[in-house]
Amino acid sequence: MSVDLSGKVAVVTGSTSGIGLAMAANFARLGAQVVINGLGDEATINAAKNEVSAAGSKPAHYNGADMRDADAITSMINEAEEKFGSVDILVNNAGIQHTARIEDFPKNRWNDIIAINLSSAFHSIAAALPGMQIRNYGRIINVASVHGQVASVEKAAYVAAKHGIIGLSKVTALENATQEITCNSICPGWVRTPLVEVQIKARAEKEGIDTEEAAKRLLASKEPSLRFTTPQQLAEAAAFLCSDATSNMTGTTLTLDGGWTAQ
Ligand code: NAD
Repeated sequence: MSVDLSGKVAVVTGSTSGIGLAMAANFARLGAQVVINGLGDEATINAAKNEVSAAGSKPAHYNGADMRDADAITSMINEAEEKFGSVDILVNNAGIQHTARIEDFPKNRWNDIIAINLSSAFHSIAAALPGMQIRNYGRIINVASVHGQVASVEKAAYVAAKHGIIGLSKVTALENATQEITCNSICPGWVRTPLVEVQIKARAEKEGIDTEEAAKRLLASKEPSLRFTTPQQLAEAAAFLCSDATSNMTGTTLTLDGGWTAQ
C-alpha cells in the first residue's frame, strides 16, 4: 500500500512518546507536515521533534497544549491552520491510565482521564471540523482501545473514556458523512509503551517476578496471540485510514488486538 501525504498537514496529540510518536514519524515519512504535541521535559520534546523531522523532509512543529485545557486545544488547531494552511489529518492519541477499583478511584484521576482520553478529542474535532468542511477533506483518527469495546476490572475511567471516544467517532462520522471527511477509531490491545510498562512493573512487584515474566503474564491474561502490537503497526494502520482505500470507511473501528475481543 502506498500512501502519499504530501501537501497534507497532520496534528497528532500525545506524540512525544509511544504510539503517537510512531504515527507522527510515519506521517512525516509519507510527506505530511506534522504538528506534534505532548508532555515531557525539554530533552524528550526535542528528541521527539528530531525523530519526526528526520523521518520526513519538513521540520516538525511542536505545540505543548495540555489536553486538559479546552482553550489550549482550540489554539493548537488554530495555530496549525494559520502556520501551515490547514489541518487535514487529526489524530487524537493523548492518553493516560490509572488502575483502582471504583470505590478507591481517586476523583482527580477520574477527571484527568476523562479530560485527556475523551474530552480533548471533542475539543480538537470541534476546532478542526469547520476548516475541514470548507476544504471538503479530513481524516480524523481517534486512538481508542480494546477497552472501548470490552471492559477490565480497575479501569473504570479508562474504559468509560474509550467507550465514549468510539461513540464520539460515530457521531463525527455521521455529521460529516456526505463530505470527504472520515472519522474512525483504532483499537489496540497491549502495546509495549511507557503507559503499559507501568502496569508490567506493577505486576512484577505484586507477583514477585521479573518484568519479562510479568509482560508474558500480562499478554496471557488477555491477548491470545501472546504478542504485543507495535507502535509501528499502529502507525501503518493510521496511514491506511488516510489512504484512498478507506475513503468510504467512516464511523467504525480498526482493531489490532491479537484476538483479545474475539473471545
Ligand atoms: P505513552 O504514555 O507512551 O504516550 C502518551 C502520550 O500522551 C505522551 O506523549 C504524553 O506526553 C501524552 N499526554 C499525556 N497527558 C497529556 C496531557 N495532559 N496533555 C498532552 N499530552 C499528554 O502511551 P501510549 O501507549 O503510546 O498511548 C497512546 C494512546 O494509545 C493512548 O490514548 C492510550 O490509551 C492508547 N492505547 C494504548 C495501549 C497500550 O497498550 N499502550 C493500548 C490501547 C490504547
